Amino acid sequence: MSYISSLDPQLYASMSAELLRQRTGLEMIPSENFCSLAVMEAQGSVLTNKYSEGYPGKRYYGGNEFIDQVETLAIERAKKLFGSFAANVQPHAGSQANMAAYFAALEPGQSIMGLNLSHGGHLTHGSPVNFSGKWYKIIPYNVDKETQLLDYDAIKKLAMEQKPNLILTGYTAYPRTINFGAFREIADACGAVLMTDMAHIAGLIAGGAHPNPIPFSDIVTSTTHKTLRGPRGAIVLSTEAFAQKIDKAVFPGLQGGPFDHAIAAKAVCFHEAMQPEFSTYAHAIVENAKALAEALLSQGFDLVSGGTDNHLLLVDLTKKGITGKEAQLALDEAGITVNKNTIPYDTQSPFITSGIRIGTPALTTRGMGKGEMKEIAGFMAKVIAGKEDDTLKAKIRNEVRELASKFPLYPELGE
Ligand SMILES: *Cc1c(COP(=O)(O)O)cnc(C)c1O
Repeated sequence: MSYISSLDPQLYASMSAELLRQRTGLEMIPSENFCSLAVMEAQGSVLTNKYSEGYPGKRYYGGNEFIDQVETLAIERAKKLFGSFAANVQPHAGSQANMAAYFAALEPGQSIMGLNLSHGGHLTHGSPVNFSGKWYKIIPYNVDKETQLLDYDAIKKLAMEQKPNLILTGYTAYPRTINFGAFREIADACGAVLMTDMAHIAGLIAGGAHPNPIPFSDIVTSTTHKTLRGPRGAIVLSTEAFAQKIDKAVFPGLQGGPFDHAIAAKAVCFHEAMQPEFSTYAHAIVENAKALAEALLSQGFDLVSGGTDNHLLLVDLTKKGITGKEAQLALDEAGITVNKNTIPYDTQSPFITSGIRIGTPALTTRGMGKGEMKEIAGFMAKVIAGKEDDTLKAKIRNEVRELASKFPLYPELGE
């Protein structure tokens, strides 16, 4: 960032403050991670200068011989990493990837059956304020009220009654393993397209720490910046039957020129995710989440569904007499970043919420393990019990700083 520092000290001050924030705090938002310097190098490269509307070998601009190599490499690696027939690596973000999937599979007005947003679905899975809820008929399914788990029999019953055009699995706040085979059976029984949005769990899938949806799904969308630990962006994977429709939906359907620098960074990320160390990383994320869950349970917290199988947990704060919003604020003051989140059948609004969502991908990237998870659960319990005690929060903030300093983040970037 040395060029920015001399050219634009005002912007540089904010950027270096953000680096310091990332270094000295505990990043526990489950959709965040710390990508490698190689990923950042690709994103900050001259590839940002190029226009390359179209696809490798079929561009609307000249001078794309090297861009074609980059995009082809990214496509081939994505296909190999997940075992998919086709890959489109151009979507700018997860929301655009989902839009492309709907464009390819549906006509406006047709129906999507997805998980109720307050039970763990994503904005693009049918929120009334999002294009998905405006342009498509949304048929929400719920998690079971008692177990807080997906109830495949209930989902099948609803699907057979409603006959949706597309069934959507893959979530933003569901702490358990998804049975993709069960969804395939339901989709076949009611004649729906099966789409999996693996945005949150793509890294676990790449590393073999969660079952792979590819053999069961017609279309699979993913972000590349969550557990997969790549650049901000997305991909769409599909079967032969959907490959051309997806390509047309992304370009010219939705986007203009691809972000070639981001595509190069995706290629770096897929290469990293193929290495044996990445599988170790993916399994460590899950082990850390389980250790954190156990430690929070022993501190008297309630967890939605009682625990976790993946990278995240949802803490139900109802019994603790604190809302998700209050807990998020108090933890922020202690240097622990989480997000407030509704719990299934929440009685609070999405702005207040009864829960917080916490995840281990970023801390695991820093090298933290089960011992640190236990220590952090202790910090959380103290902060939540003493949410109005400024002295206590300041003391924990110092302990957080000390813990974070033992796991240096981007030491290569200097002060
Ligand atoms: C994060 C997420 C997205 C959207 O990704 P953006 O890159 O923020 O647009 C889509 N689906 C799910 C399930 C997600 O968790």
